[in-house]
Amino acid sequence: MGLFTPFRNKLMPSEKITLAKGDITTLGVDAIVNAANTTLLGGGGVDGAIHRAAGPELLEECKTIGGCPTGEARITKGYNLLASYVIHTVGPVWQGGHNSEKELLQNAYINSLKLAKEHKLNSIAFPNISTGVYGFPKQLAAQIAVDSVKSYLKNNKYPKEVVFVCFDDENYALYRTLLSVD
Ligand code: ADP
Repeated sequence: MGLFTPFRNKLMPSEKITLAKGDITTLGVDAIVNAANTTLLGGGGVDGAIHRAAGPELLEECKTIGGCPTGEARITKGYNLLASYVIHTVGPVWQGGHNSEKELLQNAYINSLKLAKEHKLNSIAFPNISTGVYGFPKQLAAQIAVDSVKSYLKNNKYPKEVVFVCFDDENYALYRTLLSVD
């Protein structure tokens, strides 16, 4: 990756939502969210990147958890990451939209935020859950992500700051529009 340049959304400073483009493993937030699979034993995409950056101890801890159902979330330490914690959540595989995919994606965001709240974490960064190999339409996924996070932040004291991390240009453009970033 090139330069990693997170920037604050100038139009909504009070909402504490930040947009960034690049590799989520480089962020020094309290927790980064992993778009994991139900085994929690690692995979490709962002999951692979997080396990590589965190080191083998992350997999050892994940093995003790015993998996995670779709829409739920589990927390581990961050090991070699800058982030203190990894919140592993499992987004839905897109199957055409009639298998509760929208609700399950919303659950993945909300349950991750709940863990951040329980641990009184100030800052948490999300990747674009389910929009890689799981095939969720990116526009719809971005809308669900932004709506879920905004309503949660409005009604809860923690986390105080949420970073949306986009890895690909298409998601970045969608989030820029949704968050009205210049
Ligand atoms: P899923 O199985 O939930 O679709 P993927 O890892 O395949 O998970 O993709 C989810 C999103 O994560 C995609 O938008 C992809 O571009 C993005 N992604 C892949 N690697 C990284 C990374 N290192 N940092 C942040 N986002 C990433």
